[in-house]
Amino acid sequence: MATGGRGALSLLEYYGSDSDGDSGYTSEDEKKRKHEFSSPHERKRKRRRAEDEEEMLVDTPSSSCHAHHTRPTASSESVMGEGRQRLSDHTMDTTSNQLPRSRSIPLPGELLLTREDHVDDPRQHQGRIRSFPHERGNWASLLYVPLHLGVYGASFASFMASLVATCQEQNVVLTPSSDLHISLTRTLILHLHWIYPLTEDLRARVSQISKFSLWLHGLNIYVNDEGTRTFLGLRVCQGRSELEDIISEVDKCLAEYRLPPFYKDGSYHASIAWSTGDVSEDLRRLLPQLENICSQYFSVETDIRTFDVDYLHFKTGNRIHTIHLKPGN
Ligand code: AMP
Repeated sequence: MATGGRGALSLLEYYGSDSDGDSGYTSEDEKKRKHEFSSPHERKRKRRRAEDEEEMLVDTPSSSCHAHHTRPTASSESVMGEGRQRLSDHTMDTTSNQLPRSRSIPLPGELLLTREDHVDDPRQHQGRIRSFPHERGNWASLLYVPLHLGVYGASFASFMASLVATCQEQNVVLTPSSDLHISLTRTLILHLHWIYPLTEDLRARVSQISKFSLWLHGLNIYVNDEGTRTFLGLRVCQGRSELEDIISEVDKCLAEYRLPPFYKDGSYHASIAWSTGDVSEDLRRLLPQLENICSQYFSVETDIRTFDVDYLHFKTGNRIHTIHLKPGN
């Protein structure tokens, strides 16, 4: 299949490992206040120092038992706050005449200054536009059902080529997705120290749900929240109630981290192609033709519509965690 974007999953690759978005946890007032009292140059240096300290905190054994393994409840936030306090206590010792008991070693200023700020260039990402600003220490994450085409990869590629050609005749540029998956969460922006506990919480809940099979049937059109991309998806026909059971458990987990739940209308699908911008109207006009190609293909390759769901993937940045479902009923 041709390479291309993959909906939410592609965002994770595009947004890469370490950063990846606006956590949304800093209030506008706080942002303004911080910006008012320092020059852009100072702000850049301060921000990088703070991030380095934060990353060091996470890596410090004394803080890891709190930071790595606790949910962001009021008490855990204060524990993390105490950790930060401890770091700055050490540097405060230098203002008195006493020798510091211990001190974190700051990165040389030159290194902090020469680290390049991340600048997005949609031309390098097939015209895709970032949905949230790049920010170090935040990780774009997604829970999904991976779908493997196996021996059907080649026939699926020619099916996609027919869809793309049909759209092209009407000047709609469609790019095939290179990975098929069914998203079970929105794209989540996680702090590094949430990844481990959240993965384990998800594993504990989801592993109680039995393996099942699902069946794809028919096409649908989706637009992302920002209206910057349109997706053509194969809808889940059978297996919806099992996906609902998983999502209900997952949403309970996400609520504990104050993360957003999945879409309420639960339109489960596997995106097979995408376009930049909101071209939903154009695609809707073409839908009868596209549906026709789709049913012809499925009438030949009858087995490709059925997928056994034995495990899920939780992708955080470029890292994939496998979460197995309960074997057999
Ligand atoms: P995905 O293929 O899972 O990456 O989804 C493609 C896009 O569909 C995402 O950017 C979602 O924001 C969007 N979308 C819009 N409405 C829905 C819905 N009801 N259920 C799932 N995804 C949706």
